[in-house]
Amino acid sequence: MKKIRRLVRPSFALSACLSCSLMGIALTDAHAADRADLDYTGSIQFMPETGQLTAGWTIQVLDSDLDTITFGLSAALGTAAVSGADVMSVTTTLDPRFDGAIRAYQVDLGAVDGDRPRRVRFAYSGPLFDPEPSFPINTLNSNKVELTVDSFWFPFDLRFDSDLTANLGVRIDGEWSGVGVDQVERVDQGFRIRQRDPALDIAFSLLSNSQIVTSDDYIIHDARREPGTKIDDLTQALEICTTYLNDMAGSAGPLPKASILVTDRAEGGYSRGTLIALTDIENETDTDLQKFICHELAHFWSHANAGGAENWINEGVAEYIALMGVRHAMGEAVYAAYLGDYAERLDGQDLPPIWTPDASGRPPYLISYRAAPLALRDLEERLGRDAFRVLMRVMMIEKIKTTPDLLAAIERLSDKPTRDWFASRLAE
Ligand SMILES: [Zn+2]
Repeated sequence: MKKIRRLVRPSFALSACLSCSLMGIALTDAHAADRADLDYTGSIQFMPETGQLTAGWTIQVLDSDLDTITFGLSAALGTAAVSGADVMSVTTTLDPRFDGAIRAYQVDLGAVDGDRPRRVRFAYSGPLFDPEPSFPINTLNSNKVELTVDSFWFPFDLRFDSDLTANLGVRIDGEWSGVGVDQVERVDQGFRIRQRDPALDIAFSLLSNSQIVTSDDYIIHDARREPGTKIDDLTQALEICTTYLNDMAGSAGPLPKASILVTDRAEGGYSRGTLIALTDIENETDTDLQKFICHELAHFWSHANAGGAENWINEGVAEYIALMGVRHAMGEAVYAAYLGDYAERLDGQDLPPIWTPDASGRPPYLISYRAAPLALRDLEERLGRDAFRVLMRVMMIEKIKTTPDLLAAIERLSDKPTRDWFASRLAE
């Protein structure tokens, strides 16, 4: 299986925040039909009082074509023991791309023997952070264990474009609750964390004192120092968006139960599938919160390559569907005000087109999040609202992930002139 998919450029420094560049990507879903490249089975013990951890992993390399694979791990952990019958040799250096924060392990693999995947074992122990990260997401302390790819807490394939599945036993003392992308189950002395759909990252949070609000559609872990503020607005937004999106999705739904983490921090919100970490909601307006929740939940149906030119589909469609949800819940004027604001933001900016047949590279923020929703608004006006809604459902059902496929769907649902008109609208 050869996939051309570059989610993050290797030149990203640690401080540049991989999670931010991945923010909003439905990582759990995008390649659900594919087999993972790597499968991780591990056990980890967290010592939150000291910020230390002890971990052991068996990583199965499911791609039989690889001769060498390079993993990155936080350099604060010291040097890991790498072993296994399939490990021919290991070369370890500090990766110069990350200012000494990441230790790279280049593992030469032995020959493939039948169908059996080759295995690489990692064992390590120590503090995860040294110094504490400036970026607010990753935490290992007595309030919260929240770890993403940015902290390199597990051996991460430095090609930055492989998918993984994971089965992890966590040992942690004390009373904790957990949220994750797939399964985070409380077991004796810890958690069992499973990630069965291939994804870039293993993402979860454990909380030692969160207030929990739950329904059939969601579970909210409010981990703020003063929980409760704006929780009613949040549950209302979740209920409205879930119903709205499930109606729109038809057979492509329903959404899985969402896990929402509410934090005090000022920045560093993200989503992984229906795991959504929210920041600073007390300063959010009702309409912004509604739009944000709808946007993140709409990413459940995002399938385009997030690292390339087609990312405008992921972000533009999620944002426009969110605006449709706002229009549905809060009326035409609120919806129109957002789009007016977006048009103003673009005024006088020197920006590339949204998409052309020879486009390459990830479009800038203003293109994906502001220009693309305006183009989709124009398409909705041309098609009519009912037909546009059908188009959105078709995108969800067919998992449309490229602009040519989207244009073909537009032609199928309307006509060639509309297809051509939208193609030139994107190329403006
Ligand atoms: Zn997004």
